[in-house]
Amino acid sequence: MPNVWQKLWTEGETGRSTHNIIPTVSLHPANWSREDIIFFTGHGPFQSYLRRFNLSTTSICRCGLEGTPLHYATECLLTLSWHMTKPAPQHADQWFRNVAANPHSKSRLRSIIQHIHLNQPLFRLD
Ligand SMILES: [Zn+2]
Repeated sequence: MPNVWQKLWTEGETGRSTHNIIPTVSLHPANWSREDIIFFTGHGPFQSYLRRFNLSTTSICRCGLEGTPLHYATECLLTLSWHMTKPAPQHADQWFRNVAANPHSKSRLRSIIQHIHLNQPLFRLD
């Protein structure tokens, strides 16, 4: 059965951002916090996600740029205290893998997600 899951996971069309971080299917869930999962799946209080699921009329963050998880972690003026260096687009996959493997970076991500959760109106244009 795990071989079937692995095949689906490897060849599937969805969940590619998560596949980049967790390429091997495991019966033991990775020891990740709720915030880690929110960040790496992109399914959280990000404008890009809210727009995609019609929970907002725009994918643009209050600061004027596209509100992707990478945006909040590297360039948003509203999360400046926890920024990490923004990767060149061709290095984004490696950047996500490095962050996922680094406890200090994951701690920053947790702070960013908590900050967005607590101050949601600040981040929204609508
Ligand atoms: Zn922003």
